Amino acid sequence: MIQVGIMGGTFDPIHIGHMVAAETAREAAGLDEVWFIPSAVPPLKNREPSASGEQRLEMVYRAVDFQPYFRAMDIELERGGVSYSIDTVKELQELYPGRAFTYIVGADRLNDLNGWHRVEQLAELVSFIGLERPGHSVDTASLPSFISDKLRIVRMPQLDISSTDIRGRRAAGRSIRFLVPDKVYSFITRNQLYEA
Ligand code: ATP
Ligand code: MG
Repeated sequence: MIQVGIMGGTFDPIHIGHMVAAETAREAAGLDEVWFIPSAVPPLKNREPSASGEQRLEMVYRAVDFQPYFRAMDIELERGGVSYSIDTVKELQELYPGRAFTYIVGADRLNDLNGWHRVEQLAELVSFIGLERPGHSVDTASLPSFISDKLRIVRMPQLDISSTDIRGRRAAGRSIRFLVPDKVYSFITRNQLYEA
C-alpha cells in the first residue's frame, strides 16, 4: 500500500507552518506522499475565506511546485459546498485504489476532531497524525477510543504562524516575507491579496 498523508485546510493563505507540519508528518509516519487539499467551504469555521478558491488553490500549487513528495488536489473545490473529510476520503479511495490515507491535523483541529461530520466512519477509513501547535494544548484524553486508537501525536518545531496572523499583517501593511514560500509571497503581493 502506498501511504498518503492528507493535509486539509482553508490555506488562506498556505504558510510555512503547513509545510513543516506536512514534512514532519511525512518523515515520522514514513508517508510516500502528502496531498494538500484546499476546502471549498470549510466546516466548523465561522468566516468565509478571504481569497477565492481559485487563488487559494493557486497558492497551494505554487507552494508544492518542484517538491518531490507534495501534491496539490482540487477535489474539494471541484465538489463545492461544505467540504467534509468523509466525502473527500471516499472519493479518493475510489479514484486512487491501493493507497492508505492518513489525515494530518494540527492541535486545534485535533481538539475538534470529535465534532467532525461522521467522524466514526472516517476513523474506520483513515488514520490520524496530530501535530502540536503553539497556543493549542493537545488533549487526547477527551477523545473517544475509536479516534485515539488510530491517532499518533508527533512533535514538530513549534511555529507560531497562522493564516489569520498573515492576513492581519497584510491588512496592517506589515511584512509576511519568509512566513510563506517565496512563490506564494510573490502571488500575494502581485494580486494585492489581504490588503486593507
Ligand atoms: P486560519 O488562521 O485561517 O484558521 P490556519 O493557519 O489555522 O488558518 P488552516 O488552513 O486553518 O490554517 O489549517 C490547515 C491545517 O494546518 C490544520 O490542521 C491546522 O491545524 C494546521 N496548521 C496550520 N498552521 C499550523 C502551525 N503553525 N503548526 C502546526 N499545524 C498548523
Ligand atoms: Mg485554522
